[in-house]
Amino acid sequence: MAHLNTIEDSTGDLIDLEYFCSDYCAKFSDNYNGWYGAMEIYQPENCQTCNTGLTYVHQGHLKYPLFEEANS
Ligand SMILES: [Zn+2]
Repeated sequence: MAHLNTIEDSTGDLIDLEYFCSDYCAKFSDNYNGWYGAMEIYQPENCQTCNTGLTYVHQGHLKYPLFEEANS
């Protein structure tokens, strides 16, 4: 799961996303625009504030980079 900041252009179109491990980390960004919820993501991403590997869905299964690193 990831916490997202949405980045919009001047017309309100979504142009980019920032990924975070938590709402706490998302608030460090100048683009923070309120709680966006915990969203499923489908590719590996790291938190832009603390660099934690984020849980994501891979071939229908959740992947936990942090957990796997701790056990490898
Ligand atoms: Zn973080």
